[in-house]
Amino acid sequence: MDEVKIMLTEKEIPTHWYNIQADLPNLPRPPLNPATGQPVTPDDLKPIFPMGLIRQEASRERWIEIPEEVREIYRLWRPSPLFRARRLEKALATPARIFYKYEGVSPAGSHKLNTAVAQAYYNKVEGIKRLTTETGAGQWGTALSQACNFFGLECVVYMVRVSFQQKPYRRSIMEIFGARVYASPSENTEAGRKILAEMPDTPGSLGIAISEAIEEAAGREDTNYSLGSVLNHVCLHQTVVGLETKEQMAKAGYYPDVVIGCVGGGSNFSGFAFPFACDKLTQGAQVRLVAVEPTACPTLTRGLHTYDFGDVAGFTPLLYMHTLGSRFIPPGIHAGGLRYHGDAPLLCQLVADGIVEAQALNQTEVFEGAVTFARSEGIVPAPESAHAIAWAIREALRAKEAGEARTIVFNLSGHGLLDLAAYDNYLSGKLEDYPLPENELQKALAMLPKV
Ligand SMILES: *Cc1c(COP(=O)(O)O)cnc(C)c1O
Repeated sequence: MDEVKIMLTEKEIPTHWYNIQADLPNLPRPPLNPATGQPVTPDDLKPIFPMGLIRQEASRERWIEIPEEVREIYRLWRPSPLFRARRLEKALATPARIFYKYEGVSPAGSHKLNTAVAQAYYNKVEGIKRLTTETGAGQWGTALSQACNFFGLECVVYMVRVSFQQKPYRRSIMEIFGARVYASPSENTEAGRKILAEMPDTPGSLGIAISEAIEEAAGREDTNYSLGSVLNHVCLHQTVVGLETKEQMAKAGYYPDVVIGCVGGGSNFSGFAFPFACDKLTQGAQVRLVAVEPTACPTLTRGLHTYDFGDVAGFTPLLYMHTLGSRFIPPGIHAGGLRYHGDAPLLCQLVADGIVEAQALNQTEVFEGAVTFARSEGIVPAPESAHAIAWAIREALRAKEAGEARTIVFNLSGHGLLDLAAYDNYLSGKLEDYPLPENELQKALAMLPKV
C-alpha cells in the first residue's frame, strides 16, 4: 500500500529558489516606467523596494540561494506535507492517483508566508523600519504581519473594504501580530480620498488598496511597499512549494501527468508549477500545467495580454500581462483572493506560449468540489484553493471515463477556516455564479492605458 502522507525532513527544505527566467524561451516584455515609456530601472523601484528584491526581479540566474535567516523561519512549518488523496479517489471511484501539496499548515494558513518572510528579511537587512501593503481576503495581510513581527518591522495594511466588513477575524489576526489595518479606500491617502469622493459606497478593490499602500511607502524614507503576488520575486519565493513537491512525488514513485493550481495574481500556481515547467522546458517532460481561475474574474482566459497598471491610480510600472483592465472592480465573489484584475507577467508569458493551460470555473462547481474534498480528506479548503480541487475532480472523472490511471497533483494553497460565511452561503443555496458579462469586460478594457 502506498503512503498517504509523503514527508520530507527539515534538512530537505530547499536551499535555493528556482528562477524560471533562466529557462524561458521568451521573456515577458519588460515593465515600463509610465512617465518615460522606457523599461523601469532599479532607481525607479528604489523608493519602494529593497535592492535585494529588485535584483531578483530582473535576475536570470537559475538558482538563487535562500538566506539562512529565511530558512530558519521556514522550519516552523516547512517542508509542508504532500498527501495522496486516497479517500477522495475512492469517493470519485476514479482510477486516477490524486496527490495534493498542503500549504495550509503555515502559521498564516496559506502559501503566502513563503514570500512574506523573504520580503521582510530583505527589507530588514537594508534598514527599512516599516512595510505597507494591501490585502483582499486578508491572507496576505496576515502573512506579512506575521513576517514583520518575526523581523521587528512595523506593518500597515490597507484592507479592501468589503473584506474588512465581512472578515473581522482576519483583522484580529493581523492586529495580534501588531499590524495597523485600515479599510480601503481610506482617508489616509490622496488616492483613497479621491476614490471616496467619486464613489463613497465602493466595496473597494485590490487595485485601489495597492495605490494607497504605494502612496504611503513612496512618501516615507523609512517605509517600503510589499506585494503578495504578481511580481517575479514573489513567484520565485513560492518555488519552495513546487521544489518540495517534486521531491515528494519522486519519493512516492510517480511523476505527474497534470499539475493544477488556482490563480489570483499567479504566485501559488507559479511557485507550484514552475519547477515542473522547468522539466518541460529543459527535458521535454510530458506534463500538463493547468491554471484555474474564477469565471467572475477571468483574467487569463478572457483578458487581453498587454501593458497595464497594477493598481487603480497608476502608481505602479506598466506590466505586460493578461488583464481585465486596472479600472475593473470585480463582483464580490467569495474567493476574495482571486479578485485581481491582472496576473504575474511570467505566468502570462507561459500561457501565451502554450506551456501553461488556463481554465475558468463557476463558483458553485468550486464549492461543490470543496465540500466533496472536505468530506473525504477532512480539510476545509480555502475557496481560492478549491478552484484547483474542482479542476482536479474534473480530471479524475475524465480519467474514469477513459479508464486511465493518470497521476494528478494539485496545490491546496490554504485552509478555509476563516471563510465559513462563504460556506454558509453555499450550504444554504444562496451562492450564485457571476460569469463576467462581456459588456462589462469591454467597458473595463476600453480604459486601458495607451502605450
Ligand atoms: C491569496 C491566495 C491565493 C491567490 O493568490 P496567488 O498569488 O494567485 O497565489 C490562492 N489561495 C490562497 C489560499 C490565497 O491566500
